[in-house]
Amino acid sequence: MDRDFLFELLKTGSVSGNEAEIEKKIFDYMQDKADLVTVDELGCVTAAVNPNAAFKVLLAGHADEIGLMVSAIGSDGTLMVTHIGGIYTTAFPGHKVRIYTKNGIIYGAVANSRSIAKNKDIRASDLRIDIGAESREDALSVVELGDTVTFDTDARELLNGRLSARALDDKLGAFIVMEALSEAKRRGASVGCYASATTGEETTGNGAYFAASRVKPNIAIAVDVTYTSDNCGISSAETGDIALGKGPVICNNPSIHKKVNAALRECAKRLDMSVQTEAASGRTGTDGDTMHKTGIGVPFALVSIPLRYMHNPAEVCSLKDVQDCIDLLAEFFVSCTADMELKPF
Ligand SMILES: [Zn+2]
Repeated sequence: MDRDFLFELLKTGSVSGNEAEIEKKIFDYMQDKADLVTVDELGCVTAAVNPNAAFKVLLAGHADEIGLMVSAIGSDGTLMVTHIGGIYTTAFPGHKVRIYTKNGIIYGAVANSRSIAKNKDIRASDLRIDIGAESREDALSVVELGDTVTFDTDARELLNGRLSARALDDKLGAFIVMEALSEAKRRGASVGCYASATTGEETTGNGAYFAASRVKPNIAIAVDVTYTSDNCGISSAETGDIALGKGPVICNNPSIHKKVNAALRECAKRLDMSVQTEAASGRTGTDGDTMHKTGIGVPFALVSIPLRYMHNPAEVCSLKDVQDCIDLLAEFFVSCTADMELKPF
């Protein structure tokens, strides 16, 4: 895998609705690795191998991340915010943040005190960001309402091939689908192979609708992160027994296609790769749900990367799982044939 490109994605802010910078990096990176690279009106970059083939397989990983949006500015120059996606509001007080303005990044500190720290019901609208401004006018000279905000964090390698960063959910997925597509081209896949870095998954899911509606795939696979049960506070009864380093996670749920799951398991077997299984009782809460309902309906599956501390400033994954996901999905692309029968009988 191209670790430099992964780290480039991880250092790029991409709060839902503000993904143009990261998508342009993916667009440029894929130029010499795919047969065709396109961008749609919502900003989703889709790379293709064999774009003229009739049978099409689409992988989607979302490039957007959760965060905050500047909603108002106080007379003292502090920024007020609303939430973008499923944030842990209590993780913000006392933390450094980046504000993405039209003239580049500026930095801030989220106000904290003993009374704020005791408020477990703190809402996004209770947060105040100190950017050093001395008045509303001072702040408005650099910040606009609608600017987005993330934690000011960097990606760091930990022991045992593990990686900690903000928004591994789901820059890992966007990275994996592009690496799997590049590998499918090298290995001479015969069907139409597509990889899309979707926008807006954390808020509306609309990017995946645009991407899948344009590709019209026969099979779609969402590539996202999932909760592990190997760390504090997460029950395996909710998630299945999921651990870091034990391989890609295949999801069983009422709408996920059993034949696609079976084909993924066959691929893992050929690669002598261990995979894990999770259960979702209804919707998966991923781009898979959206792609499934495009066009005349699209059979879909969900392949997930085990992740600790999802939606926190320091999420943790295993780089071995990332490589396994790339290998599994490249093998899936290569193993697909135009005469695959997807009806159950
Ligand atoms: Zn995600």
